[in-house]
Amino acid sequence: MTRTTTRARLIISRLLMAAALATAAPVVQAPALAQSTAAPSAGPAEPALIEDLVAAGRILVNQGVLDGFGHVSVRHPKDPTRFLMARSVAPALVVADDIVEHDLDGNGIDAKGRTLFLERFIHAEVYRARPDVMAVVHSHSPATIPFGASQVPMRAMFHNSAFLAAGVPVFEIRKAGGMTNMLVGSGALGKALAEALGDKPAVLMRGHGNVVVGPSIQLAVFRAVYLEVNARLQLQAISLGGPITYLEAEEGVKADKVNEVISARPWDIWKKQALGK
Ligand code: MN
Repeated sequence: MTRTTTRARLIISRLLMAAALATAAPVVQAPALAQSTAAPSAGPAEPALIEDLVAAGRILVNQGVLDGFGHVSVRHPKDPTRFLMARSVAPALVVADDIVEHDLDGNGIDAKGRTLFLERFIHAEVYRARPDVMAVVHSHSPATIPFGASQVPMRAMFHNSAFLAAGVPVFEIRKAGGMTNMLVGSGALGKALAEALGDKPAVLMRGHGNVVVGPSIQLAVFRAVYLEVNARLQLQAISLGGPITYLEAEEGVKADKVNEVISARPWDIWKKQALGK
């Protein structure tokens, strides 16, 4: 074998190795890292809406629904393909300047280098799947966890949680992603979660928490609060033993119509307490 042939073979083998590496490259999870896009903004939202979004996070902390984790978002009033949500920060610390416009692929619009929530895909895919949804809450509210992990379905205990009488599905992340880190950190997992939610107002996430949606920030917050309360009450009712009479679907529809109107009353006091004004 001549020296030239050996060198030629070496070059060819290096080229093949480079080609193999190039082919393998897409395995790296790129979407979660692609946080910002230069796409034009849908424009500024009303300051009153931003104030309500900031208040929503603090209310949910005060009510024991959110802690250092979890997030609230609202669909952009000027563009249904955008939503507004804080950068990655504890909900009680969110201020107006932390709110970032997101698109439905989970990109931040002009995020200015700010880190976004890993689970922003929950919100993005729910807004994509559900044109009726204007606000989304994702929490790890503790009393709901047993219902996501056991075979006992969550059911509506009382009129404030009437929205649950429509049925409460459970999202099993293993079905969509096998053995994951339990987080909805990609568009594919967000889509599977939105499918599990279906046309319902809430979905439990096995081993994780829940997602609650609504036609306004006020109603989504109301529902997130009473989902947690309902879980505590149902656990108490079960511990009493014997049969439990839950709300029927028809009672749920009727009571939820009232809740849609009166949810403004607790909101007013919760917001006052949350913002100190
Ligand atoms: Mn989470």
